Amino acid sequence: MADQDQTHNVNFQAPPSWWMPILNGAQSSASATARGHTFLLVSEDIEEAILFGAFLAARQLCHRSDGYQPCGDCNSCRSLLHDAHGDFLRIRQQEGKTMIGIEQIRDATRFAQQTALYGENKVLLFEAAERMTLAAANSVLKTIEEPAGKTLVLLASSEVWRLPATVRSRCQRLMVPRPTQAEGLSWLSAQLGCDATSALERLIFARGQPIAAWIASDSFDFSLETTLNRSFENISSQQRLPSVWANIPIETLLERLLVWVESQARGELLHDRAAERASWLTLHRCIAELSGRVKLGATPSQDIFLAEVYRLCRSRRHSAFDDVAGRFLSNLGRLGRAG
Ligand SMILES: [Zn+2]
Repeated sequence: MADQDQTHNVNFQAPPSWWMPILNGAQSSASATARGHTFLLVSEDIEEAILFGAFLAARQLCHRSDGYQPCGDCNSCRSLLHDAHGDFLRIRQQEGKTMIGIEQIRDATRFAQQTALYGENKVLLFEAAERMTLAAANSVLKTIEEPAGKTLVLLASSEVWRLPATVRSRCQRLMVPRPTQAEGLSWLSAQLGCDATSALERLIFARGQPIAAWIASDSFDFSLETTLNRSFENISSQQRLPSVWANIPIETLLERLLVWVESQARGELLHDRAAERASWLTLHRCIAELSGRVKLGATPSQDIFLAEVYRLCRSRRHSAFDDVAGRFLSNLGRLGRAG
């Protein structure tokens, strides 16, 4: 259902299982009063807090909701999927800005006061609400204290301590629980249609956060990061240098490779495979050294550089990998001058 959507809406028919307790909580609190309501949605993973907010918004605005989840098919649900719903406003930091400013709060206030277009409900979602400037936070107080009409106000945050106490005290807090690894894995592999091993790799890479892992995978065709990771994963089956390597700055390549190798080493720790882990750590050391040289201003020729890194990565599982790595490290000086 979310195929043409770029803002990551969870398939409405299948919210993650670990959301269930708070979905019920949000329902009874919101229906206890026919007036507006403000929730502070807290998760360790900001993407998850935002996604949870979008789900609550869909449920609130749906014309055929069973009160528990949205139908996914009415006019309201369809507009939301296309991010074109007149009664739903996302407030987030604008491109090029580091904070949510006061002019965005003015937009939010105007929105909260206008009449609903599709029905009687409206939803205002603050993404990463802790990024409000102090002035913005002060001017939002009235809107969140007494949302006009039947407006549902949602503040999504992963760093709730950064919100002023004046804001926090005006919201009802909903903590998104962290799933068990089994819950996360089963949900992720169902979403991606992949096996448990692949789901586990992605989960580890996303520091155990299934929603973050899902969002990273979702943009596979478009995101440089996932294209790169895929090229790292497949390195032993590739016959020549992945084309994506040649198209990005060397520093970026090394940086992403380091993160990926680190996640592989962590994965082996989980599986208790000491030899595998040791070879990942050796590879990590080589790349970290190289990355350090590049940061210090070494300018290797792109061709030689890529070929060397490629060869090094490919030989990780070779029995003589320690020798290869040793030569690589002692040759670093020569590599650095090659440009
Ligand atoms: Zn609907």
